[in-house]
Amino acid sequence: MMNFLKENKFLVFSPFRIILFCGLCGVLVFVGVMGQSLWWFYFGEGNTYVYRKGNLAVHFVDVGHGDCTVVQLPDGKVAVIDGGHEYYYPRVKRYIRERIKPKNNRIDYVINTHPHDDHLAGLLLLMEDFRVGKFFDHENITEGMVIGNNSYRIQFHAAKIREVDNIDDQYVNEYSPIITIEYASQVFIITGDAGHETERVFIESAAAQEIFDANRVDELTVYLQVGHHGSRSSTGIPFLNFVNPDVAIISLGFLYNHPHAEVIRNIKDRDAQILMTRDAGNIVFRCDGDRIKVFFSFDNPADLVYVWIVIFFALLFLCFNNYIVKFYRLWSRKSVDTIYCIV
Ligand SMILES: [Zn+2]
Repeated sequence: MMNFLKENKFLVFSPFRIILFCGLCGVLVFVGVMGQSLWWFYFGEGNTYVYRKGNLAVHFVDVGHGDCTVVQLPDGKVAVIDGGHEYYYPRVKRYIRERIKPKNNRIDYVINTHPHDDHLAGLLLLMEDFRVGKFFDHENITEGMVIGNNSYRIQFHAAKIREVDNIDDQYVNEYSPIITIEYASQVFIITGDAGHETERVFIESAAAQEIFDANRVDELTVYLQVGHHGSRSSTGIPFLNFVNPDVAIISLGFLYNHPHAEVIRNIKDRDAQILMTRDAGNIVFRCDGDRIKVFFSFDNPADLVYVWIVIFFALLFLCFNNYIVKFYRLWSRKSVDTIYCIV
């Protein structure tokens, strides 16, 4: 080996290049760490999100094309409505473990709106990793069913309007009940992929008319999770007129050309603010009954690992490219046996 290096002096790395490489790696780490901190500082407070006892917090977790809503209830219980596609489950698990920190690893209510992969697959994995209190899906959700105490109320509407054995895609979307979460004057509406038919039944139900009573509607702040990721098959004009949202949250990725333009236009016509998980990352609303605070966070440092690896090899090439080229030339000239000698 030593003889070989003596014969091929150019293969001895110069201290200058090694120092340059270490220096650039240091700069890379510094820029990475600072960049991420500044990103969080300017674009969100998600990493500083703290649950306050007695508050209601509703988390719309960014699971690409799919839904995953985690609710921290005022009595300390935790509900998860849908779990996104299984591909995003590691993100959901990390989010719940690090941000929600459920007591005794227990999720009190696990709710599936309908059995499509972008809603159910992650939930099935979640139920293997966490202790589950009660599980609800289209099989056991009944019309008007209520979970809650005297400070909050989760209510299921327009349930069981479908023939469960019809597996046509739009029909399965209609399995989704419309779920309202009421806390003081705040109302969150979770719609899964419910379509116009479910919306019509909801509007006509007495329970929904009681919540959105015309005399009361001005006092309410309404947060609507827009149905079916912003597809035109949901969020009809009569439904929008009925619930009159202040904020519309769309949980989506880059599939199916969602959100559809007419849905966005109809929401904007009602002066509602639109927030999308695709742009804002995880979106959290924390209410103390009086005031509401919104947090955003991007949950993707792990995704950036691949970027750092590519940049690392780019730096390696930048600093030592002449050696790499010379090695290659040597390799192509020498016999395989000689190359084995080098190593
Ligand atoms: Zn869906």
